[in-house]
Amino acid sequence: MTPTHTILLEDREVPYRLKRSPRRRTVGITVLPGPLVEVSSPARMAMPPLEAVLKAKGRWILKQMAVFSAPVPPPLQLKEGAALPFMGQRLPLKVCNLAGRQRVMAGNGKLWLDPGKTNLEGTFDPQAARKTLEKWYKLQAQNTLEERAYHFGRLLGVVPAKVRVKEQKRRWGSCNSKGMVYLNWRLIMAPPQVLDYVVAHELCHLKEMNHSPRFWDLVASVVPDWKTHRSWLKLHGNSLVW
Ligand SMILES: [Zn+2]
Repeated sequence: MTPTHTILLEDREVPYRLKRSPRRRTVGITVLPGPLVEVSSPARMAMPPLEAVLKAKGRWILKQMAVFSAPVPPPLQLKEGAALPFMGQRLPLKVCNLAGRQRVMAGNGKLWLDPGKTNLEGTFDPQAARKTLEKWYKLQAQNTLEERAYHFGRLLGVVPAKVRVKEQKRRWGSCNSKGMVYLNWRLIMAPPQVLDYVVAHELCHLKEMNHSPRFWDLVASVVPDWKTHRSWLKLHGNSLVW
């Protein structure tokens, strides 16, 4: 996604991508990680009024961009004692060699990783360990997120066609009109309330395919403090990595 235009906001040159749509009646602004600014406008809106809207929202746009420009923490080194995020906690990694094959287990407030084969010095291939760990995280994510999706489905009176955990670069969740719900597997690293907010958000879209006040009322009916969780993700989403 490359920017198509630029605009001066509070003395800063801000590139943005303009998408025109015949269905739109108002200007919509989205700031995505990157940061990338995406502007959706009615098909025939002239540039001066469009730019006036952007300037009026200038401070907000720059604030959102600052959130995404926050430094991304460097990837954790997978070694004994590394604190890995899981369900809102930081679990210290314990490297053990019990079964002689790659596996991961959570227990006693720790994450146990058997890296499988080690070389003569007792060190293991971090690349392979990362893969083993990722597989385990994805499995936990699939089980937990699916269970939460059906929980919120029952509360809302909707049944998702399928709930799938995916690798998603820029989103925490998405869904479509066929009732498919896709969730970012990294959500399993977030606190359970935050994970619930994202699941509930997508489930509410199965009833309201928009972000109208009606949609947010629906979200609030199942997750009353959704705003707190949304801000948490904006501020800390970047740290859900290892
Ligand atoms: Zn949404």
